[in-house]
Amino acid sequence: MVMKTFDVVVVGAGPGGSAFARTAAKNGLSVVVLEKRQAVGEPVRCGEAIGWSDLKNFKIKPNGRLCPQAVKSTLFVSPSGKSHTVKFSTDDGHIVERIAFDKELASVAASAGAKIMTRTRATGIKRKGKKIIVSAKRFGKKLEFECSLVVAADGIESRVAKWFGVETNYPPNELATCAQVELAGLRLKKPSQVEIHIGSVCPKGYVWVFPKGPDRANVGLGLPVSLADKSAEEYLEEFLKKDKRFAESSVIRDSCGIINVSLPLKEFTADNLMIVGTAARQVSSVDGGGMGFAIAAGELAAEIATEASRRKDFSKGVLSKYTKEWYKREGTHVKNMYKARQAFSDLSDSELDYVVENMNELDVNSIQAGKGFGKAIKFFMKKPSLVRIVRHLF
Ligand SMILES: Cc1cc2nc3c(=O)[nH]c(=O)nc-3n(C[C@H](O)[C@H](O)[C@H](O)COP(=O)(O)OP(=O)(O)OC[C@H]3O[C@@H](n4cnc5c(N)ncnc54)[C@H](O)[C@@H]3O)c2cc1C
Repeated sequence: MVMKTFDVVVVGAGPGGSAFARTAAKNGLSVVVLEKRQAVGEPVRCGEAIGWSDLKNFKIKPNGRLCPQAVKSTLFVSPSGKSHTVKFSTDDGHIVERIAFDKELASVAASAGAKIMTRTRATGIKRKGKKIIVSAKRFGKKLEFECSLVVAADGIESRVAKWFGVETNYPPNELATCAQVELAGLRLKKPSQVEIHIGSVCPKGYVWVFPKGPDRANVGLGLPVSLADKSAEEYLEEFLKKDKRFAESSVIRDSCGIINVSLPLKEFTADNLMIVGTAARQVSSVDGGGMGFAIAAGELAAEIATEASRRKDFSKGVLSKYTKEWYKREGTHVKNMYKARQAFSDLSDSELDYVVENMNELDVNSIQAGKGFGKAIKFFMKKPSLVRIVRHLF
């Protein structure tokens, strides 16, 4: 069997793996990215919404091929149909084509010097002194890669961290099951607006409508696995039937998936291991968004890996600077989003109607950015029946 040697083996060519690979390769490390699928980015299991500022280091311009629609605001729709529009505080919201998008990120990583290998599934690791041997399968053949560092960027189905003894099981009540269709043949009046529908239409979750132009949109939903009396697909079918705009449309893509809505892992490293993106649970627990988190974490982890390479020391003692720095940047943000989800999940349909009707009194952008709950606490304190919600926000 041929053994190939790299400084780093990255498992997973999603946004997190590609962001790591690009930065590490640019910094002079030899990097291979193993991707089990036959094409990077496929199949798509994503609403495809992202803030373009998350891509600042990639220097990719938003264009029609990568991102068909810029979005400027969110329309929140309550159970009884009340609505409120919130303009984004920045103008970088986009709905992307994930297949093209993930391929572009992987291509940028390849141009920086990383080697990307599709149809290559990592199957296990063993230690050899200070090195790691990663075994993999490609077209039924066994391969081995020797390296100093393994990056687990293997998404929701992550196994790699477990091979290093890191406990990554999700609490079952903190997983959301999702269904989505991409619809064509629509006539959307305001494609620059995303929609969020809340309440019993999707209990303790939400329905999203993310336009990809006036004629196309991703319509999907996610709800807690532990709650689902009906499947996500059944909830979605009911939603689509009720909205006249979708009556004459065609489904051009069906997808389903799982999103983790828990807090991130407490530690993202072990000796010779860094965990990045969804594999580390670096996801917004309020909306399930994780591409931006994965890219930022990949870049940060790669900078720390570069430092470790200079010191010739890939022990947890050195690598865990990544965990500390990540929590310094994102710790408050993710904890606040987690609290916001708890609060939101505690509201009945009639209470959600009240919240949407009076949303102008809430600073929704601050809540979504995980910045704090000053206005929200005052808002809930004003109405005796909603005072109980405040306990989630401290
Ligand atoms: C229905 C749904 C809707 C979503 N909507 C949004 C949204 O609108 N906006 C947003 O920002 N986020 C959204 N997310 C979340 C987002 O998709 C993820 O957070 C993001 O893809 C995480 O990137 P990643 O690089 O960590 O992992 P992934 O993109 O999941 O990439 C992991 C890769 O690892 C590969 N892999 C796994 N195991 C192995 C192995 N053993 N060997 C080789 N390769 C392996 C997989 O094939 C995959 O390509 C959504 C998720 C779902 C399920």
